[in-house]
Amino acid sequence: MGKMKLQCLGAGQEVGRSCFVLETDQKVMLDCGLKIYEVGEGRDMFPLPFRGRLDAIVLGHAHFDHSGYLPSMFAHGGPDWFSTPPTAEITNLLWADSMKIMGDRSPYTEAEIAKANRKWVGLEYGKRLHLGKTAFRLHDAGHILGAAMVEAEHGGRRFVYTGDFKMEGSRMHAGAEPVKDVDVLVIESTYSSREHPERKGLERKLAEDVAEVIDSGGNALFPAFAVGRTQELISIIRAHNKGVPIFVDGMGKEVTRMCMRNPGYIRDAEEFGEHAESAVFVQGREDRVDATSMPSVIISTAGMLQGGPALQYMLNLMPGSKMYFTGYNVEGTNGWRMMKESRILLEGNLLEVDTPWEYYDFSAHAGRADLLEFIRKAGPEKIVLNHGDGIPAFAEELRGQGYEVHAPKNGDTIEL
Ligand SMILES: [Zn+2]
Ligand SMILES: [Zn+2]
Repeated sequence: MGKMKLQCLGAGQEVGRSCFVLETDQKVMLDCGLKIYEVGEGRDMFPLPFRGRLDAIVLGHAHFDHSGYLPSMFAHGGPDWFSTPPTAEITNLLWADSMKIMGDRSPYTEAEIAKANRKWVGLEYGKRLHLGKTAFRLHDAGHILGAAMVEAEHGGRRFVYTGDFKMEGSRMHAGAEPVKDVDVLVIESTYSSREHPERKGLERKLAEDVAEVIDSGGNALFPAFAVGRTQELISIIRAHNKGVPIFVDGMGKEVTRMCMRNPGYIRDAEEFGEHAESAVFVQGREDRVDATSMPSVIISTAGMLQGGPALQYMLNLMPGSKMYFTGYNVEGTNGWRMMKESRILLEGNLLEVDTPWEYYDFSAHAGRADLLEFIRKAGPEKIVLNHGDGIPAFAEELRGQGYEVHAPKNGDTIEL
């Protein structure tokens, strides 16, 4: 029987800095993320260091908590790394952006990013990659453009690392299909104690809400993440609110173009292309003034209102406007502060904001029922939980159902 070991270097009983090393006859790193804190001092941002020689790195998806540390692995050499083509494209955009934001605190340089790019090898969903006596395959994770679950087969045993995934389909992606006959399942557990509302109903509710704002002459402002959420919002709003002007600003513009360049990774590329082309990609000051001079929908980074054009729009909204939060807001960010106390921190001063706002839960992660269904269909002999805050309780629950469950902390190695 194929022996396997898994070393947890990040995302053990936490969300952020996902990083694991799977050991078969090969040593392969799965994800290499970075944890960005908006508040708190002295907490660890980077995965724990890996001692030894890696044969390869497989990157599941482009979100920074899975990809943000990868160039650091190429300071001295570094192995080939594999991902879907869109994942590499988006990741490069995020690396460049983070270098700007982090400045001196960046754990890597442009030279290391360039070295990393020379070691990249594209791997499409479903294609087999043989490294020594281990075969790898990527499966659509239904999470963001190019996101993949990683399957590894060795000595007659099947290992699956889900990364972030979603089973319910969205406008951008068909949902992930559970992998069958899995021996070892390493599964994200972000929402092990929570369900998300059903997408279709939520879309309708949002569309009606936006229509009211437009009718009353205001702007519907969506501070949104560049990757995934910006594109989904364009599609949802255009599908329901046909004539409304949509302005897109911030890094989401570039990611939207990447989506259009990778039609094979989108559920309905033709429809998405039409929706995206109907939006105004804001070019400069004039477009920005336009956006807040007429009833309109504005979708802009930063998702958590930490700077970016979204913050500028917020300060210039027309009467009758409303703000919409559709994703996760880290504690201490302006998005979090808005939702908690309707205030933001601007150049060191707290500013009361009287614009009404609403939260819509458009999560790109599996909810609790999805996690349980995935586990049931995969039928694993062993489960490894990661990427969540409530892991000990979820582990206990699954043990109660008869599974062998591991909940490693960072630094732990498990024999599988
Ligand atoms: Zn993700
Ligand atoms: Zn994640």
